[in-house]
Amino acid sequence: MFVLIKNVDIYQPEPIGKKDVFIAGKTIALIEENVQLGSSIQPEIIDGTDKKLVPGFIDSHVHILGGGGEGSYKTRTPEIMLSDIVSGGVTTVIGCLGTDGVTRTMSNLVAKARGLEEEGVSCFIYTGSYQVPVRTLTESVLDDLILIDKIIGVGEIALSDHRSSQPTKAAVANIVAQARVGGMLSGKAGVVNIHMGDGKRMLTMVEEILNETEIPITQFLPTHMARNQSLWKSGFDYVKKGGLIDITTSSTRDFGDREVTSAELLAEYYKKGLPIEQMTMSSDGQGSLPIFDHSGKLKGLDVGKVSSLYEEVRSAIQNFNVPIESGLKVITSNPARILKLTKKGLIKEGNDADVVLLDKDLNVDTVISNGQIMIQEGQVQVKGTFET
Ligand code: ZN
Repeated sequence: MFVLIKNVDIYQPEPIGKKDVFIAGKTIALIEENVQLGSSIQPEIIDGTDKKLVPGFIDSHVHILGGGGEGSYKTRTPEIMLSDIVSGGVTTVIGCLGTDGVTRTMSNLVAKARGLEEEGVSCFIYTGSYQVPVRTLTESVLDDLILIDKIIGVGEIALSDHRSSQPTKAAVANIVAQARVGGMLSGKAGVVNIHMGDGKRMLTMVEEILNETEIPITQFLPTHMARNQSLWKSGFDYVKKGGLIDITTSSTRDFGDREVTSAELLAEYYKKGLPIEQMTMSSDGQGSLPIFDHSGKLKGLDVGKVSSLYEEVRSAIQNFNVPIESGLKVITSNPARILKLTKKGLIKEGNDADVVLLDKDLNVDTVISNGQIMIQEGQVQVKGTFET
């Protein structure tokens, strides 16, 4: 399939002006002022006038099998559907298990990831769940990374949380060491996605491992870093030491009396002059979201949405004056670089044809994943196997 997007304002995420983009099969083949094709090639033509072309979004933390179950069996959330992903402009997801590594398994996670790939998006996974020792697919984290293509890292390992397995520092250091070497031997990132809980210890164990071993700080990707105000603030020092932080777009957070959105926090981070390259956002999509009433009583349960990922970035751009390219980086080129997804996250010749067209108000208009048009003018074109 050939697609030619004409006269579109391109954000790589860095802005490079108005050009044509020619997609051949699954690849961005040409980016030129005025692409001329021979008459034997009849592409589908998309008029990009008044639109922006940006990389397909990368969501680095999604419970693709469903999550939750923390309010007993009936609160286990359902599996994600294809249109939940693409309607939010997301073309690459990283699937993970969470609290429950017993009824949700690694073999099931591999199968779901392959299913989503068959349906049209790119999908990779982390090995493990909250628990330590890590429940892997093969014998170890090291083997999983070296032998299973889909596995690109470890996670989400829970720390500073009442639901964690309360692992020792030595056990966590060993997991990160295996992830590092497994990543090196397989050409993958081998990043360890750490679920940060509400506990007072915050990043203490991570800092101690960094002080006592040779493991580089970039081997860790702590997530939910804006869960509460102290954790969010501790992230600033961590970033100054070269650390990476991820914040979650779908969850509510405890900042005292204040309701704080991820968009606002991204703006705060940007305005402090902290390096935007060291921050990512992920949705925690399909995880369970408890809803509380004013008195703090549980009212019901909702499911985290992948679409919250871009909604927050868009709000940061439109409501909090974050430049488009800086906002985009946290969900495109940053996760691609950190997770070593070498053909993702940048609009560049030779990269995978994962792109999103945004309309004048920066709404998702058209989504192309691996060269296939998934959403066109806001309408879903490709549905998941069991979606009606
Ligand atoms: Zn988590």
